[in-house]
Amino acid sequence: MERLEPSVAAVLSALGGDAKPVTASDARSQGWPGSYALLIELESDLAVRFAGHEGRLDAGWYAYAGSARGPGGVGARIARHLSGSKKPHWHVDALTLVARRIDAIATRDLSECEIAVRLAASNSFAHVLPGFGSSDCRTCVAHLLAWQS
Ligand SMILES: [Zn+2]
Repeated sequence: MERLEPSVAAVLSALGGDAKPVTASDARSQGWPGSYALLIELESDLAVRFAGHEGRLDAGWYAYAGSARGPGGVGARIARHLSGSKKPHWHVDALTLVARRIDAIATRDLSECEIAVRLAASNSFAHVLPGFGSSDCRTCVAHLLAWQS
């Protein structure tokens, strides 16, 4: 049994409801539309460019909120995020391509924005880089938050 990272436990606790971990081996069987949180561990500091901004992320754990309602559902999207070989498309790809570890948690009950709101409200995560991952969103500060260890 793999150890549950404290950051994963914090996300499960913050989201509640039907939120559950999804691994690379079972992602493809999760073909339903839903939302997800990625827990991404950066081994070293990372410079990022997004939406005309430049920013810097310190080494550590980050949570990213997203949703997938197209073909393949949330599982196909998670599988893509977990893949080490992909053409960068979303802001978060800059993190997942260099991550030491990525854990995924999926839910049918919450939108990606509700995930970001609950993570921030838990006080276990805080916003960094306003606008990161939330170009299409007019309500959230960002869809990326940093784990407050
Ligand atoms: Zn949002």
